[in-house]
Amino acid sequence: MKIQDIQAIQLLLASPKKIAIIPHRGPDGDAMGSTLGLYHFLIKNNHQATVIAPNDFPNFLAWLPGSETVKIFEKETEISTQILEEADIIFTLDFNAFHRTGEMEHTLAKLKATFIMIDHHQKPDDYATYMYSDTAYGSTCEMVYNFINFLNKREDIDKTIATCIYTGILTDSGSFRFPGTTGNTHRIIAELIDLGVENTQIPVLLFDNSSFSRLQLLGRALQNMKIFEEHKTSYMTLTQEELDSFNYVKGDTEGIVNYGLSIKDILFTAIFIENKDEGIIKISFRSQGGFDVNQFARDHFNGGGHSNAAGGRSEISMEETVQKFEDLVKKLTL
Ligand code: 5GP
Ligand code: MN
Repeated sequence: MKIQDIQAIQLLLASPKKIAIIPHRGPDGDAMGSTLGLYHFLIKNNHQATVIAPNDFPNFLAWLPGSETVKIFEKETEISTQILEEADIIFTLDFNAFHRTGEMEHTLAKLKATFIMIDHHQKPDDYATYMYSDTAYGSTCEMVYNFINFLNKREDIDKTIATCIYTGILTDSGSFRFPGTTGNTHRIIAELIDLGVENTQIPVLLFDNSSFSRLQLLGRALQNMKIFEEHKTSYMTLTQEELDSFNYVKGDTEGIVNYGLSIKDILFTAIFIENKDEGIIKISFRSQGGFDVNQFARDHFNGGGHSNAAGGRSEISMEETVQKFEDLVKKLTL
């Protein structure tokens, strides 16, 4: 971050402010961990802070400290809008374009507050007064840790804040294995553990918390997997009917896409998940090595993300979407 920006933010935060903190729609561990970590920090510094998520977060994140205070814009639109309109400062975390907040984007676009972006995605939009945007980081949570340090407030990080930050670093780094995981990441993790973070318990809460039907849904996705050996690509599908038949609840499909890369010599994978309510196919892309799925998602599926993990959407049928994907894959040499 620029030194002038840090100084300006320090000045801004020197007196109590009304602050809204926003993650992206479909918030994941990094989005919830970073917003709640920052929330606890701001509360500790006498600000009036509220996390407003565009839509609900998955159940496996409900144990995060402070999650019970989170307002859900799409369910509590009136109160959320009021908080946004009254806010002096709005932090947008783990995203960099208003459209990532879904229908909340129209409300955000009208606000006059000071926007501060903390994010690690490519190609940030130009809405924030102060931007801490850097794709070198594996998680927004790591950047929130740095941000608190920039403000010279390192001693404010307690077990609660550390727990939130730890969670996002863990989930967005694929348990410390994705590129972007550095010595510094591990040094921060070590510090957070020293602050009391329950590092053996958190992975259990996040990853070993499945229902039996979620595991059966995973089994179905794996059975649906198709492989294009020559193009080092795999993909899976889940239709709405399949989701319903396994009593799908929000969060159940999280992480399934990664199985597509766990096959030897596969470097590119995708999962297509039908959402009848929204009339779309939600897509996740993952790659290993140099193939840039962010670019692929931007070029063909109205999405984006990082070079090894991205998402997108399609408004045509599952069959047509998969056909479009197969046609593109057959032109790839990885
Ligand atoms: P996931 O596949 O886990 O939903 O997302 C992988 C990464 O891509 C995350 O960093 C997420 O923020 C980003 N992402 C997911 N969906 C979209 C999308 O529709 N548009 C953009 N720009 N990024 C996305
Ligand atoms: Mn993230």
